[in-house]
Amino acid sequence: MKAIGVEQGSAEPTLLDVPAPTPDDGEALLRTHRVGIDGTDFEVLEGTHGGFPAGDDYQILGHEAVCMVEDPNGTQLDRGQFVVPTVRRPPAESNEYFDRGEPDMAPPEDCLERGIDGAHGFMAEYVTSPAEYLIPIPNELADVGVLIEPMSNTAKALELAFSSRGVLEWEPERVLVLGNGPLGLLTLAMVQPTVEHAYCLGRRDRPDPTIDIIEELGATYVDSRETSVSEIPDVYEPVDLVYEATGYARHAYDTIDALGPGGVGVLLGLPNDWTFEIDGGALHRELVLKNKALLGSVNSNLRHFESARESITTLPEWFLDRIMTDVFPPERAEEAFAGGDDRIKTVIEFEAL
Ligand code: NDP
Ligand code: ZN
Repeated sequence: MKAIGVEQGSAEPTLLDVPAPTPDDGEALLRTHRVGIDGTDFEVLEGTHGGFPAGDDYQILGHEAVCMVEDPNGTQLDRGQFVVPTVRRPPAESNEYFDRGEPDMAPPEDCLERGIDGAHGFMAEYVTSPAEYLIPIPNELADVGVLIEPMSNTAKALELAFSSRGVLEWEPERVLVLGNGPLGLLTLAMVQPTVEHAYCLGRRDRPDPTIDIIEELGATYVDSRETSVSEIPDVYEPVDLVYEATGYARHAYDTIDALGPGGVGVLLGLPNDWTFEIDGGALHRELVLKNKALLGSVNSNLRHFESARESITTLPEWFLDRIMTDVFPPERAEEAFAGGDDRIKTVIEFEAL
């Protein structure tokens, strides 16, 4: 079968011909419809994040998928039904995180991630998965369902942010999203209708499709080359919630400056090593004296996928159309991974509806 993967020693996506998988007991055989590409896939290609499945000299990419059940194989699923798979799988032996239904809380050494770390991904004509890691979705979400995985990461991050303020009356009114990549834009669309004002930070010149989307959502575009994250309270206003999706490590610490009293910053970006100077004392004091919180958040569990499946139905159609910029067949993998400022969410389509 056709699969898009990366081979040992290469940093390029390659169309591979690999054996189709056979489902084990409790696993369904799935036919892949669409798989989204995101920043993490590029990190996997570059070899800065994740790793190959043990014993294999290639890794099939892709963790944002919509598949159709080809063979339920004795599971509760129905043939022909669409599903979105979750990303994390237990290592050889299960552990407390998986037993608790919280694989998203496992440290990297206690989980595998399909398409990212130690397990093949979903960019293949056929994939298998235990039924318990599959979220059924209605047919009408099949084309946009690749956005459910990234949106589930936001559902989790927001859950952590809100639960860190659980005992308080905390309703963020001013929100700052750092990053105008797919994750930043999806998050902006999810939170904007619930807040008084939203800001989204990028580093692009106009005209740019992401800036158009930010403004059409009713948010303010902030250019980080003109206004740093630390300057946002002076130039605009302090914010209640910062959602970091740039992977730019300075933003983690500048977030503390951008927050008003009681504010929460939630960090999702995955930076490489970078040594730089910060005034640790001032940041520590600011966190304490103004009751601020800084949280990290990675991945998501079934509950967050279910929440994202609800949220996606509330996003405006024009937004979904404009964020899903490109669809390529697997044979054009190289072009699909080429990137470019006119691209937001690129999708590989294995089987058209
Ligand atoms: P992208 O790389 O597509 O998006 C990052 C965006 O941030 C880009 O649009 C980039 O701008 C912008 N950016 C980077 N540095 C700056 C800066 N200094 N000032 C302003 N804008 C900046 O990634 P995704 O949207 O897919 O994901 C965002 C981050 O979150 C990545 O680091 C990814 O690895 C991580 N991630 C984490 C998850 C988690 O569970 N924790 C889940 C999914 C992703 P430009 O395009 O102009 O360069
Ligand atoms: Zn993703």
